[in-house]
Amino acid sequence: MAKRVESPSSINTFKQCRRKYYYQYIEKLPTIFNIHQVRGIIAHATLEHFFDIDTSKFSEDDYQLRLRETAQKLFLHHWKNHQKELGQLGLHEDQKKFYFEETMLMIMNWVNYFIDDLKNLQRKKNSSLQQAFLELTPLREQEYASSNYSVRGFIDAIKHLDDEVHIIDYKTNSSFDLKDENKLQLAIYSLLYLETHGKLPSKVGIFFLRHKLKLMAVDEQLLELAKKEIMLIHAHTSATEKREDYPKTVNNLCKWSTGQCDFYKTCKPHETKD
Ligand code: SF4
Repeated sequence: MAKRVESPSSINTFKQCRRKYYYQYIEKLPTIFNIHQVRGIIAHATLEHFFDIDTSKFSEDDYQLRLRETAQKLFLHHWKNHQKELGQLGLHEDQKKFYFEETMLMIMNWVNYFIDDLKNLQRKKNSSLQQAFLELTPLREQEYASSNYSVRGFIDAIKHLDDEVHIIDYKTNSSFDLKDENKLQLAIYSLLYLETHGKLPSKVGIFFLRHKLKLMAVDEQLLELAKKEIMLIHAHTSATEKREDYPKTVNNLCKWSTGQCDFYKTCKPHETKD
C-alpha cells in the first residue's frame, strides 16, 4: 500500500483513537463543524490578515488604539464572513454572543502582547514604529511538506528575530499546558523546517490566545519524537486499511457533557465491541 500523506492532526487522531483515524482519513466520513473549530478559523484569519495593515499613517500617539481598532474590525469582518457556518451550528443567540465576545477578548489579548513586543523592539533598536512592525511581521500560513517523511503541515507564524527563528501555532482552547499533542505538532514542524531549510528553528511554541505565548527549545529529542511517531503511523497504515485493524479507544473523548466524537453514531462505542 502506498504511504499516505499525514499531518500533525492526522497523527494525533491516530494516537488518540485508531478507529477515529479510520473513519476520518480512510473511510473519509464527513466531520461535523463545531463552534470551537469555526471560531478558531475566524481567529486565525484575523491574525493572518492583521499584518497586512498599512501602518504608515499611524503615529506614536495613536498607534495602540489604531492597532486595537484594526484588529476589532478585522475580527468582525471575518466573523461576518462565516455567518453561514455559524448559522449551521444551531446555537442560540446568547450562545453566539458569548462566543463572539470571548473570541474578541482573545484577539485583544493577543494584540496587547503584540503591542508590548512592538514597544520593546522599538526601545531595543531605537527604530520607528513602522520598522518595528515590519520586523515583527511573521511569515504566515506557510505550507511545509516532506516527500521523504510523507508529512505536511501549515505553520501559522514563522518569526525571524535577528538570528533566531520562532515557529508559532495559535490555539483558542482554554488550557495553558503544552500537551503531548501540542509537542508532537511542534516536533513535526521542526522536522519539516529542518528538512526544508537545512537548519533547526531556534524555538517553537503555542500562542494560547486566552493566555500568552509558551515557547520551547528545539532539540534532538524533539526531532526523534517526530520521526518515531511518523514511522509508527506509516508502518501501520501502509500495512492495512481494514477497519478491524483500527481498534476503538473508548474513553471520555467519545462523549462528554457538551458534545461527542464526530463519528459517535457510526461507531456506537458503548454498544458493540468491534
Ligand atoms: S466514538 Fe470513541 S471509539 Fe468511536 S471513533 Fe470516536 S473516539 Fe473512537
